[in-house]
Amino acid sequence: MKNKACKVCKAKFTPIRPLQAVCSPICAYEHALQLKLKKDKAETKKLKESLLTHSDYLKMAQTVVNSFIRLRDEKKGCITCGTDLRGRKFDAGHFFSTGAYPNIRFNLDNIHGQCVPCNQHKHGNHTEYFIRLPKRIGLDRFNKLLEIRHQQTKYSIDELKELIKEFKLKIKNYDNNQ
Ligand SMILES: [Zn+2]
Ligand SMILES: [Zn+2]
Repeated sequence: MKNKACKVCKAKFTPIRPLQAVCSPICAYEHALQLKLKKDKAETKKLKESLLTHSDYLKMAQTVVNSFIRLRDEKKGCITCGTDLRGRKFDAGHFFSTGAYPNIRFNLDNIHGQCVPCNQHKHGNHTEYFIRLPKRIGLDRFNKLLEIRHQQTKYSIDELKELIKEFKLKIKNYDNNQ
């Protein structure tokens, strides 16, 4: 039989059996341990997932959506004061708050890059936000946002998982030069 590399120690060896993956009993033992560890990890992950609540998924989804907003807006300046956001820590600020308008908490027209002073110290700098948001997204989309802000949308856990996946992909494929 042809030589192959041991799965554990990477040494070249001549297999005795066709599917032999390791060179020696010691490596076979190590290999079995590694497989078990892998299986345990997969089971732990499953268990962890089964313990996550709806609100955990909401938080995870908001985190990933906000990461996308930071990527999208890092070159645009703070939505409410225009401060350059490049190279500094900044927030994803909601125009309509997530607490009062949970149905548009992931709406990309409702969230924009905002400097920390505006978002955290001026509580979102709402008056400026109201003046500047229509200029950023256009009056049509602004009106649309007003229109849909009270619609009831409840995300199921499966929908949230889908949303998380979708935004992770969006982040991964984001063209930073646009
Ligand atoms: Zn080996
Ligand atoms: Zn600002």
